[in-house]
Amino acid sequence: MRRSVPVATVLRKLEELYDPPRSFLTFRTPLQLLVATLLSARCTDVQVNRVTPALFAKYRFAKSFAAASQRDLERMIHSCGTFRVKAKNIRLLCKILVEKFDGDVPQTMEELTALPGVGRKTAAIVLYGVFGKNDGIAVDTHVQRLALRLGLTTKRTADKIALDLQRQVPRAKWGRINALMISHGRVVCTSRNRKCDQCIFDRHCPSSLLRGYRDLSEKCH
Ligand code: SF4
Repeated sequence: MRRSVPVATVLRKLEELYDPPRSFLTFRTPLQLLVATLLSARCTDVQVNRVTPALFAKYRFAKSFAAASQRDLERMIHSCGTFRVKAKNIRLLCKILVEKFDGDVPQTMEELTALPGVGRKTAAIVLYGVFGKNDGIAVDTHVQRLALRLGLTTKRTADKIALDLQRQVPRAKWGRINALMISHGRVVCTSRNRKCDQCIFDRHCPSSLLRGYRDLSEKCH
């Protein structure tokens, strides 16, 4: 019978390899992390990091983004995909930051998720990345794939997987497990290849190729 890898083992082994976990987005301020995370939806972090230096040099504060023209923002973030919606959300949410928060990024899940285009994943990344708060586990495609393969969840949506993980992972580790799992998902347990012969979970994993197991992140037909 295939058993899931205990969360304590997942954390310990990932921390041995990838500690301290690093953010893959380049930023200096809370606003920059918020904007970069919004841009990273359906876009690679590498591409976002190509776009943001010029963007942040031109628009330094919430009031600058709020006053930006839709057209200019769209032009600058075009290569990040879904640029019309992203530009509109950035302008709108920056107007709210100016009007309600004196231009600052709020520090609670409720306030952040009330902003246009900001879901729990984005909010969790910002809260941990700049304020050190463990208010949720951000589930992107890497976290989702690894959680399924390791048997930590059987759910298929990011929000449900986040809840499953939050039930198992100690709250003090909610912020850091995102970057730890992304690191492993990018290098070893990638979407195209399970490099199980190079993996720290090879003997324990219920999706291990070395044991002839099926990939639990694939949907059954
Ligand atoms: S053993 Fe294979 S499937 Fe399991 S986490 Fe490692 S690379 Fe992924």
